[in-house]
Amino acid sequence: MTTRTLPQTRPRVLTGDRPTGRLHLGHYFGSLQNRVRLQAEGAELFVVIPDYQVLTDRDVADRLAEYVEELLLDYLAVGIDAERAVIFTHSSVPALNQLLLPFLSLISAAELHRNPTVKDEIAHSRQSQVSGLMLTYPVHQAADILFCKAALVPVGQDQLPHLEVARTVARRFNARYPHAGSPLFPEPQALLSELPLLLGTDGGKMSKSRGNAIALGASADETARLLRGAKTDTDRRITYDPQRRPEVASLLRLAALCQGRDPHSVAEQIGDGGASALKTLVTEAVNEHLRPIRARRADLEADRAHLRKVLSRGNTRANEVAEATLSEVTEAMGMRY
Ligand code: ATP
Ligand code: MG
Repeated sequence: MTTRTLPQTRPRVLTGDRPTGRLHLGHYFGSLQNRVRLQAEGAELFVVIPDYQVLTDRDVADRLAEYVEELLLDYLAVGIDAERAVIFTHSSVPALNQLLLPFLSLISAAELHRNPTVKDEIAHSRQSQVSGLMLTYPVHQAADILFCKAALVPVGQDQLPHLEVARTVARRFNARYPHAGSPLFPEPQALLSELPLLLGTDGGKMSKSRGNAIALGASADETARLLRGAKTDTDRRITYDPQRRPEVASLLRLAALCQGRDPHSVAEQIGDGGASALKTLVTEAVNEHLRPIRARRADLEADRAHLRKVLSRGNTRANEVAEATLSEVTEAMGMRY
């Protein structure tokens, strides 16, 4: 086998979402908007749908095909370019998964156990016991990021510890296996948005798997119902105070982002109207902002064959890139027989 380095003409961006349900407002303001912006600025966008990682916090990954389709609909509806982006499923790219082996050797067991996001996910896990996959999945994510040598990773706040793992893997690999010329792996940077942690209706991180999310594909009525049940507090006067009133602040920021204004001004507008006026305003702002996205999503739903084609093209391209990187890795490690 000879080393094949594919030409990399545009800066690469990698992100992904587990196929565990429909994407929600946290994804949209936490990461999707940045993906679309970077794509418009000329970046080559890679989007991983990590189907193996569904098993980090549950024993069986059910409804995978359905959830993968939902993600594809969400991506295309928010403006990810079906022609240019590389959207792929983990299990379809064997060379990417093989990178996990050398990468695991570069991270200590103590480092795996210390990861604060993994600790939070263990607390919400549906498994009675912590699996090896749960502990090691941040290293799997390092493989997702490094296989395409992504420079930027637009993510929510919960991903920062994992980005640190990816940076550590890149640094240690480069130091342990010096490569002719420049280091093999660039150190990827996280890109946080203005709203890196949107709270869900229960006051915890909005998550697909925690029953507290407002999906991009939800109807206007469903959105209203979910927001009516959102946790707030008993203080009637609405103020923007993220430290003392995190739930109210998260709702104010959501409305502010939807309407392109400042959360303080939204709070002032509501004044003594209390939580119910706040929820009404947020519902209108969200439904208004998502209206065109939801309309596009409904159109896309009519053409499932197109969705499958987008994924199949993405998988082909991801395999080319992963095989080239794996070839460089095994060569750097002296695995040439
Ligand atoms: P699950 O509950 O299945 O883990 P999730 O909602 O946490 O689903 P992920 O697929 O784990 O979504 O995360 C995909 C991306 O979306 C990550 O970059 C993550 O940081 C970001 N993200 C997820 N939830 C939020 C949120 N509430 N606010 C901002 N960003 C978020
Ligand atoms: Mg998650």
